[in-house]
Amino acid sequence: MDAISAGFSIDIVTLVLTRGIMQMMLGGLLLYLGGRELNDQSARWWAFGFLFNGISLFVFPFDFEQPWQLVVNAVNHLSLGVGSVLFLIGFWQFGRQPIKPWLLIVLLAFPITSVIAWEVLWPNARYRVLCTAVGQVLYLFVLQHVLSKPFRVEFTRIYRLLRFVVIVYIVVFVWSYASIAELLPTTARQSLDYHKVIFSVASLLFMLTLAVACLALKFASLATRDADLAMRDWLTGLLNRRGFFHAIKPSKTKKHKHSLTSLLSIDIDHFKKINDAEGHAAGDQVLQHFAKMLKCFDNDNDNRLVARMGGEEFLVILFNTSEAEALVLAEDFRHQVEQKKVTLNGQKTIDFTISIGVYQVPMQENIEQALAHVDDALYAAKRKGRNQVSLPT
Ligand code: GH3
Ligand code: MG
Ligand code: MG
Repeated sequence: MDAISAGFSIDIVTLVLTRGIMQMMLGGLLLYLGGRELNDQSARWWAFGFLFNGISLFVFPFDFEQPWQLVVNAVNHLSLGVGSVLFLIGFWQFGRQPIKPWLLIVLLAFPITSVIAWEVLWPNARYRVLCTAVGQVLYLFVLQHVLSKPFRVEFTRIYRLLRFVVIVYIVVFVWSYASIAELLPTTARQSLDYHKVIFSVASLLFMLTLAVACLALKFASLATRDADLAMRDWLTGLLNRRGFFHAIKPSKTKKHKHSLTSLLSIDIDHFKKINDAEGHAAGDQVLQHFAKMLKCFDNDNDNRLVARMGGEEFLVILFNTSEAEALVLAEDFRHQVEQKKVTLNGQKTIDFTISIGVYQVPMQENIEQALAHVDDALYAAKRKGRNQVSLPT
């Protein structure tokens, strides 16, 4: 009331209409981005969330005779509920989390009850507003819970910021509605006008932050997709050289620091002959088949890394593995490849062999030195006649 009596006033109807239109525009923007630029469902769910939230606000100031007012109120409450459900679906989908239909039904039950019970059966404006508000608080709690589990570190900061904003908004929301419900002690209560101003401005800021965060998340996910692509070899899907060096950054391998680490450097024997005899495309297919075989090393993401370092040369890092264990694994794999026949285009089969260098990395050595040693081991295997496993000479 103070701010208003001091000569500063906010026209609630204009504010609400502006918010409604603004949110519909934000929804349109996300829809455009989601549909065309990013080709991802979550942006579409968010967009429709904004659209429905906008519709809910847009109809709010209308004042009609019954029965039209009933329609207006129903649209107001139901679109608010539908909007929040759509936001949640969007965040579940974006976060690769399962959608919980029962929770969506519970959330929708609040506005539906508002309309049926407190508008149609036992008209009571206060109960109607409060019932929908309880559903909204529940939605906000679920949302901040969903935001507690970013599925990639790149999104952690945006999630954390958004979570903070959701929690602040919950406080304003609960305080505001507890005030009109006369649940707070008289001294803590606010007049309805004051409630409307504070609440309108808080909601405006909340929805704006939400929109900016949704856009930021979409662009962050584009950036991570491009970064991932740059780290992977397009032919085999394995890490490429850049991806390999990124993956072994000290920050990522900290937990392996004090344990044994062994390297395998693997090279296909006389690969040039396969290319010359069968063509480059057949060579590519052999590389793809071989990469699939190599994935047997990659079954435990934390303990092993497989990369295509270039051409027909591959590298495997075995954490927590001694030289003796690495030699056994390498010999097993060499044998498997020797036995395997690769079928090209479903017809012709070819077989090939590999040479493997094995090296256990001493604690004090850096990766460049270790790579030089394991290459030395590989060349030793080649010198000794190929199709074999060797340690450095
Ligand atoms: P060695 O047993 O000594 O390793 O003989 P090699 O013929 O396997 O080795 P070399 O390094 O002489 O030849 C590697 C060949 O791999 C040459 C190159 O054309 C071929 N190559 C590199 N990358 C690709 C690729 O992506 N696809 C295909 N089809 N061939 C590739
Ligand atoms: Mg080779
Ligand atoms: Mg080679």
